[in-house]
Amino acid sequence: MRRKLVAGNWKMHGSLAENQTRLTQLVLALKGNEATDVAVFATAPYLFQCKSLLAASAIKWGAQDVSQFASGAYTGEISTSMLVDFGCSLVLVGHSERREIFHETNAIVAQKFAAVLSANMTPVLCVGETLEQRESGQTLSIIVEQIKAVLEEVSIADFKQAVIAYEPVWAIGTGKTATPEQAQEVHAAIRDLLAQYDANVAQGIQILYGGSVKPDNADAIFAQPDVDGALVGGASLNSDDFVKICNAAG
Ligand code: PEP
Repeated sequence: MRRKLVAGNWKMHGSLAENQTRLTQLVLALKGNEATDVAVFATAPYLFQCKSLLAASAIKWGAQDVSQFASGAYTGEISTSMLVDFGCSLVLVGHSERREIFHETNAIVAQKFAAVLSANMTPVLCVGETLEQRESGQTLSIIVEQIKAVLEEVSIADFKQAVIAYEPVWAIGTGKTATPEQAQEVHAAIRDLLAQYDANVAQGIQILYGGSVKPDNADAIFAQPDVDGALVGGASLNSDDFVKICNAAG
């Protein structure tokens, strides 16, 4: 039985004061919820604050991006070992905002995935299609391509230590959610793809849905057999909403 994981992607939001309030609220409100894995992805300047406020709780924290390079003359970049220093156990790789705005290719995403694994953290690989791609019937082929690019860089066994987040680009931050059936169809296809390489890995991996998850649609999404949790953007900035989504998962 796979545990559910609900992870908040704070994106480029927050301040020391806001985070202090939010993290304190989450620790208190989620104390009794042992059934669900919970994590937050903060921007790098706040990772130390996450470490200070979350270390004694079951809530994990991680980064929204990382460099594919180990160290060196890469101004502005942050390495995996730096994230480890700040207690991160998870790292988002290939979020659609990174792919679209910062032109991260499948190959770069694959290198980041491998770098995160080498540092013994868990990569959360984000995949998903644009509206145009969905409307032209390319959803599954795009997702297969995104995952296969990673499989060119690492082995299928490496996915034992990874999480996948299916995030249709057209549903991120738009208020449009994929229907539970649309999510299930893609999640099942991802599991089938991985099963072609290794059935145990396919069965064990957590596949999250992301795209305008809110307290009022979380139940229906979590009821799908291949949905193992959610990556939550906007609603993770409101502690009450985020806690409701975490509680809906377990
Ligand atoms: C995200 O940023 O990964 C996300 C899913 O955002 P939202 O929940 O706001 O659509």
